[in-house]
Amino acid sequence: MYKEVSIGLGAAVLIFLLVIGYNVGPLLFLGMLGGLLYYLMRSRGMVKTFNKVPSETQVQVSFCDVGGQASAVEELREALDFIKNRQEIRRLGIRPLKGILLTGPPGTGKTLLARAAANYTDAVFISANGSEFIEMYAGVGAQRVRKLFKAAREAAQKHKKNYALVFIDEIDVLGGKRGKTSSHLEYDQTLNQLLVEMDGIDVDDEVQVLVVAATNRADMLDPALLRPGRFDRQVRVELPDKEGRLEILRLHTRNKPLSKDVNLAELAGDTFGFSGAHLESLANEAAILAMREGADQISKAHFQEAIDKVIMGGKLDRRPSVEEMKRVAIHETGHALVSELVRPGSVSTLTITPRGSALGYMRQTSEDDRYLHTQDYLENQIAVLLAGAVAEEMLLGSRSTGAGSDIEQALQIAEQLIRGGMSELGFVSLESLPPETKHKAMGEILKRQEAWVRKNLEEQQAALRVIMEHLLQREKISGEEFRGFLTTPAA
Ligand code: ATP
Repeated sequence: MYKEVSIGLGAAVLIFLLVIGYNVGPLLFLGMLGGLLYYLMRSRGMVKTFNKVPSETQVQVSFCDVGGQASAVEELREALDFIKNRQEIRRLGIRPLKGILLTGPPGTGKTLLARAAANYTDAVFISANGSEFIEMYAGVGAQRVRKLFKAAREAAQKHKKNYALVFIDEIDVLGGKRGKTSSHLEYDQTLNQLLVEMDGIDVDDEVQVLVVAATNRADMLDPALLRPGRFDRQVRVELPDKEGRLEILRLHTRNKPLSKDVNLAELAGDTFGFSGAHLESLANEAAILAMREGADQISKAHFQEAIDKVIMGGKLDRRPSVEEMKRVAIHETGHALVSELVRPGSVSTLTITPRGSALGYMRQTSEDDRYLHTQDYLENQIAVLLAGAVAEEMLLGSRSTGAGSDIEQALQIAEQLIRGGMSELGFVSLESLPPETKHKAMGEILKRQEAWVRKNLEEQQAALRVIMEHLLQREKISGEEFRGFLTTPAA
């Protein structure tokens, strides 16, 4: 609109100057130069505008679409009810709630909650990402913040809404502690502008703006953002527990034909540590696998394959050499035998198909979600991790770099044992421990477990060889098949 008016005005002035006999050549030249410069800066992202602010008035997501986050939903709803009660807020002279900060790991549904919040308050939803405000050029970010708020108010007026919800994802990028980025003041100016905008929000405003921001790193935020009157409501959005995962799986499979053998509760148990985004991806991948096979329904096998894909990444085309495959099969069988020993029934799948950065892997069935670990549990974990390297050494006479990440994880667990006062050092502070003492204690823990693993794997050498051969032929075997070998006479 502004563009059209300025073009029209420019043309009128030019015609007028021509009519009165003025030489417009130099003016035209300067105008063209200016236009070219502007075009170049825009195409390089130096000048951006918020013309295309994504505004969604018809937000379809509701709190029913957010699974496994009952307490976050409850807290958020409570804050929103407060905001919606404008008359009472005005009557009692209460300071309006201006910002809600959603914090938690990636993919847990923070954006989803913000959309549902917009729907709940019947607000227009305008979103931006923290990184969109950060430019090399001072003042551009601050200008974008102004435009974002202006766009939000205008969108609400246009759609005759009383509320506008501005959602800023990854706010830590723009709202990091001031003064940290000493190289330029752009970050500080942008953050200052955000604070100014938030301070300007008033209960008497025609359109009430609510800022909802999300971050995975609340500790990185400038304290000014968290002081009362800004983001003074923080809602934690955690990884879902088993019940939560079941709820999310139900949500994401409600439009999918599932075969009878699919047990969502079992799947929820198998997906410890998965976020909502992982679970959504799992349901989607399983459906894609079913489609590729031309199946009418999505089966348990599709879900199992999809779990592997979500955890480890897609299958790789590259094929290791025969010797490498054999080594990987021995390594994974070693893990599986010890896993089964310390927790019978714990092996879920065994495969030597390369995926992501792994050449093979043994997946365990999950236990109930655990938040506390005993000494036995941690030592058993170390034993399972070391079993791959020990099996390689027993059958091939040497170890390989394949055990690198196992050893690293085992060392981390050993550190946990020391920190928890479960090592021979007794109750000690890990931080004040001399590094040599710590390393010696960690080494001792690993050595003890290694000796235990070696003794047990030697007793099971026959089974190790049989299962390894079978795995080499089949590439993938299920937990049940694996356990079948343990009960046969060959084992
Ligand atoms: P990030 O921190 O990476 O921005 P986020 O916490 O904002 O992630 P979302 O973008 O809300 O996560 O989630 C991505 C997708 O994952 C959603 O569109 C949804 O399909 C699914 N999802 C995540 N959490 C949930 C949940 N609690 N219930 C249902 N679906 C979920």
